[in-house]
Amino acid sequence: MPVLKLQSLWSVTAPPGPVCTPLSGEQRAQAVVIGAGYTGLSAALHLAEAGREVLVVEAADIGERASGINGGQVIPGVKPDPDLLERLLGPYAGGRLVATTGTGPDLVFDLIARHGIECEPRRAGWIQPATSEAALEQLGRRVEQWLRRGAPVSLLSRGEVLQLTGSALYCGGLLDRRGGTVQPLAYVRGLAHAVLRAGGRIHTHSPALRLGRRAGTWSIDTPQGSVSAPVVIIATDAYTDAVNEQLRRTMVPVPSFQVATAPIPAELRSTILPEGQAASDTWHLLRYFRLDASGRLVLGARGTFGQSPHLRDVQYHYRAVHEIYPQLKGIAFEYHWGGMVAMTQDQLPHLHELAPGLLAGLGYNGRGVAMATVMGRLLARRALGAQVEELGFPVSPVVPLPFHALSGVGARAMIQYLRFIDGVARVGGRLRTRVPFRV
Ligand SMILES: Cc1cc2nc3c(=O)[nH]c(=O)nc-3n(C[C@H](O)[C@H](O)[C@H](O)COP(=O)(O)OP(=O)(O)OC[C@H]3O[C@@H](n4cnc5c(N)ncnc54)[C@H](O)[C@@H]3O)c2cc1C
Repeated sequence: MPVLKLQSLWSVTAPPGPVCTPLSGEQRAQAVVIGAGYTGLSAALHLAEAGREVLVVEAADIGERASGINGGQVIPGVKPDPDLLERLLGPYAGGRLVATTGTGPDLVFDLIARHGIECEPRRAGWIQPATSEAALEQLGRRVEQWLRRGAPVSLLSRGEVLQLTGSALYCGGLLDRRGGTVQPLAYVRGLAHAVLRAGGRIHTHSPALRLGRRAGTWSIDTPQGSVSAPVVIIATDAYTDAVNEQLRRTMVPVPSFQVATAPIPAELRSTILPEGQAASDTWHLLRYFRLDASGRLVLGARGTFGQSPHLRDVQYHYRAVHEIYPQLKGIAFEYHWGGMVAMTQDQLPHLHELAPGLLAGLGYNGRGVAMATVMGRLLARRALGAQVEELGFPVSPVVPLPFHALSGVGARAMIQYLRFIDGVARVGGRLRTRVPFRV
């Protein structure tokens, strides 16, 4: 079996990011951010715009992790439905969380416009095509809940989904006009340029190795330098390492893998997502797909992959493309790549205050393009002194997951299990099981 070359489509089409150097010597700042993805750069940008001296340390390069390799789907809200959130958190706190997270795409497209970020932004909406009548009923309830809150969301018939996606696979769906797409690497690189223009400093290839506190000040050591500040924001999401072991154990990193086809010939392309929406369907192991600016189909799904995946490892993804779009059989697959998604037990992102002046935000459950940008702004506002009640988002205690050490094995087993139950459903079968979540 041939070994696949791993390369992200986005790395080929994004404008260059800023050239940054590793941190060296002893530095000081008013706030240090660990991690230069959407969370960290959005936090740094909002802090720099508020006049704070901010310094970002990044272990790799900008956008080398999730923020530069994702599907670029700008999805409003979080996974749990609005009514459920209000039941769980109470009408006031739940309502504010729903409002804060629902406006995520507004923040993304506003930052892009305000900072002139060239990242192929397109706000045509986001579709959830239904894979079963039961899923469609659930989407109907979701639409009704969002409509009560004034969101531009509608339920689509089978024919409307066929028209908007070009796929006959689905029995209906949900269209949320708040959503859209970006070129994800270009977006994160654009945020980095904006941070630098606002006066922030970014040091790449500078992993935080140690985080300590001396005389009311936090200090961070990197291989060639150190930096101290009264405020530190940890923005490392699925890539959180032993620098904060407690935080690392609050989420499970789950692998997600994507493939991109060659540009689709114009005649065929006009039948596929002709209005430019992004889509994530309702299988338990959901598939997310969209076109890029040159008309390639980009499809992703959770799935395991090693450092050197073989062709057999991506057969699931190829089959998914052909199941959704049989008309694409014969079109080559040119790019393959993947990364880690941070999943939390309650399917919600978490904002933590680990100690005075030590903040963290993570756990976007596959919805981080909009939500991590929002989280960065929330972290900056809290670091600037906003009261917890003013944030519109809860500050939660750090609760490590039980049996976290087994999470890698558990995540792989869960993916296989969900593939299995989706496979049974696909051939018309039914298992006596109810899995209440989708990944
Ligand atoms: C394949 C894939 C597809 C996805 N598709 C979508 C999608 O279509 N839509 C959507 O909304 N979401 C999607 N997501 C999720 C989304 O990409 C993430 O939720 C989001 O990018 C998280 O941003 P972040 O800044 O918190 O984390 P990241 O972008 O992962 O950034 C964290 C950074 O911290 C750095 N770091 C870690 N440890 C240290 C340390 N000790 N010192 C210094 N730096 C450190 C890492 O190098 C990394 O750059 C996808 C994710 C993946 C992997």
